[in-house]
Amino acid sequence: MPEPYDHLDTLRQTLRAWLAANAPADWRETCTSHDGFLALQRKWFTTLIEGGWAIPHWPAQGPHGAWPGGGRGLAEQKVIYEELARADTPRLILTFVSTYHAACTLFEWATPEQQAKYLPGILAGEIWCQGFSEPGAGSDLASLRTRAELRGDHYVVNGQKLWSTMGQFADKCLLLVRTSSEGAKQAGLTYLLLDMKAKGVTARPIHQIHGDEEFAELFLDDVHVPVADRLGAEGQGWAVAQSTLSSERGLTLLELSARMRGSLWRLVELVGGDEPGVLRDLGRLATRIDAAQALADQFLAKRIAGEEAVGDASLVKLMYARTLREFTSMGLRLGGIGQQYHEPIVFGGGMETGNWMADFMNSYAWTIAGGSDEVQRNIIAERMLEMPREPKSWVGA
Ligand SMILES: Cc1cc2nc3c(=O)[nH]c(=O)nc-3n(C[C@H](O)[C@H](O)[C@H](O)COP(=O)(O)OP(=O)(O)OC[C@H]3O[C@@H](n4cnc5c(N)ncnc54)[C@H](O)[C@@H]3O)c2cc1C
Repeated sequence: MPEPYDHLDTLRQTLRAWLAANAPADWRETCTSHDGFLALQRKWFTTLIEGGWAIPHWPAQGPHGAWPGGGRGLAEQKVIYEELARADTPRLILTFVSTYHAACTLFEWATPEQQAKYLPGILAGEIWCQGFSEPGAGSDLASLRTRAELRGDHYVVNGQKLWSTMGQFADKCLLLVRTSSEGAKQAGLTYLLLDMKAKGVTARPIHQIHGDEEFAELFLDDVHVPVADRLGAEGQGWAVAQSTLSSERGLTLLELSARMRGSLWRLVELVGGDEPGVLRDLGRLATRIDAAQALADQFLAKRIAGEEAVGDASLVKLMYARTLREFTSMGLRLGGIGQQYHEPIVFGGGMETGNWMADFMNSYAWTIAGGSDEVQRNIIAERMLEMPREPKSWVGA
């Protein structure tokens, strides 16, 4: 059911008034140090939770009462994201894996006991990271080698994970491990919820070329994980991981597309005059962003209705990554490269650091994160268009 316009307009005005009173000012300056970034992210998360604006995609009710601001429809969620962008608020970077990837996977797979154990912690600001990729397993994720051996009531985990976003700050980890080498690679995978403070866990930040440290590599050395912290059955890890990836490629991108739409004003401000060529480019970009948003919308609507959505998430991801590059390169073109070059890096950036050079560089990360563009194209070709599968030798399977 489409949500009535009046209702959405009221929501928009309510949030706009709330943001006028609560949105942090001058946050980019705070984020030029790591400590400043962390403090601001934690405070803004708590403020949004208290205001009821941080988790519109959660269900309305949890096991012990209402989730604050949960149960919003897709149209409402978009309004919220657009207004957060319009008010130029910082995006929740420290906790997005917690509220999206972790929560959505828990809603789908966790037992009531596991939900009661983990979901309140997310609301309290616990940080989650995703431990899927490894030095030898990115696109070909199913070939991962981190090993978990069942010993009585716990698993003993040994291995290494790579590119875990915010992993150095995380309290918990969505950990994909191998429990068997028999049969198909996917069938030997199991999904665990790891306490990052457990003995044997080391998270080492990865220093990036532009000065930020968004990722960590994780070293797991005889780490004990209770069987009670397994999500789904042993050997069901691949299916559970698809829920996490769907959230990453669908829900997250609904927010990000809405953010990009809301951030168009930054480009409009740069245009200043009324050069017809630039306005035409801006119009084309706006249309592309709307298309990316519509694709995310369609994918999520299908998922909510329980319909088959083979390849849709890949389409959303591919469209978003391409549009973000176009958006940031236009910002760079209009904003001027030189003036941006010596500005300080804003930690936890994306598309709204205020520095178009940094945003442009970051946009390339989106062509890899959550599955590279090439891999998304393969999925679309094989599963949506039913074209022949690529030769096994290329994927190393
Ligand atoms: C910003 C960002 C955040 C990330 N966050 C996380 C995280 O929190 N947790 C996590 O576990 N991982 C994370 N990752 C890792 C990400 O999932 C992997 O980088 C991605 O899956 C690609 O794997 P890879 O880096 O090993 O590259 P590879 O798989 O080695 O690929 C190298 C190149 O080969 C191409 N290629 C590979 N296979 C094929 C094929 N079959 N057909 C055509 N081309 C192919 C790829 O497109 C790519 O260009 C993140 C990555 C980025 C950039």
